[in-house]
Amino acid sequence: MNELYLNGAFVPPEAAHISVMDRGFLFGDGVYEVIPSYGGHFLGLEPHLDRLDASLAAMRLEAPLAREDWRAVLRRLIGEPPAADQYVYLQVTRGTAPERDHLCPAGVRPTVLAFAKPIKPRAPAIAEQGVACITHPDIRWLRGDIKSISLAAAVLMRREAADADALETIMHRDGWVTEGAVSNVFVVAGGALMTPPKSRLLLSGITRELALTLAHEHGLEFVERPVALDILRAADEIWLSSSTREVLPVTRLDGELVGDGRPGLLWRRMDALYQDYKARVRAGHV
Ligand code: PLP
Repeated sequence: MNELYLNGAFVPPEAAHISVMDRGFLFGDGVYEVIPSYGGHFLGLEPHLDRLDASLAAMRLEAPLAREDWRAVLRRLIGEPPAADQYVYLQVTRGTAPERDHLCPAGVRPTVLAFAKPIKPRAPAIAEQGVACITHPDIRWLRGDIKSISLAAAVLMRREAADADALETIMHRDGWVTEGAVSNVFVVAGGALMTPPKSRLLLSGITRELALTLAHEHGLEFVERPVALDILRAADEIWLSSSTREVLPVTRLDGELVGDGRPGLLWRRMDALYQDYKARVRAGHV
């Protein structure tokens, strides 16, 4: 990383400093986004910035930058096309206040941080073998739609998954699937492709939305409906979606095979559509 963006300046990482009184550090009081780019072109920049606005509004934080300023900052971080594949992480906290008080006084300026990191290419074994997941009750708060930096539950869930040699934890609340710790979930069951509908309980994933758009454009039927844990367990296919991991096939759930234990036919179709879309992004055609 050559430089990152902090509060209006581009600086080398070692020159970037944030106060220990920052509310992001003390309270996890802030929001974030992760935006992928291919060859120097962002995938889903505007939907990501729309979701950032929604998260900021839900947290009663004012937008610290105008839309065109965000675009300029993010473009500078990834460089000119043809650049390497990178994602930008951006974070806005409520800022640094003099006291550690849950109630933030007026006039505190938000802290704005953004940096770019390489996107690791998907390991070929994933398309051959898929990934393993575990399930766990959803122990998070009731505002999964806010992309909050308070990620204690997600950190715990990823640890649980790693301890079980799995990539991700799929969470459920009252018998209904919500989402992964860091991804949305799709299920193919009884020939139908389904994903839980948007609600306050889960993040409205940009990749989820793109997958549904691609499905719609290419005649793959799907339904947004509540997915019972029983349906998940009996599914023929399970997919995860996220900006940096794209759409992944899940072939083991809690140690049991999903379907025949291999990435499914519908996933192959969706992955081909997704890879094609990415190639068009990379070429600057979307
Ligand atoms: N759900 C959660 C809880 C996440 O943290 C993420 C991404 O980090 C997603 C879903 C997927 O969202 P997106 O496709 O916008 O990356």
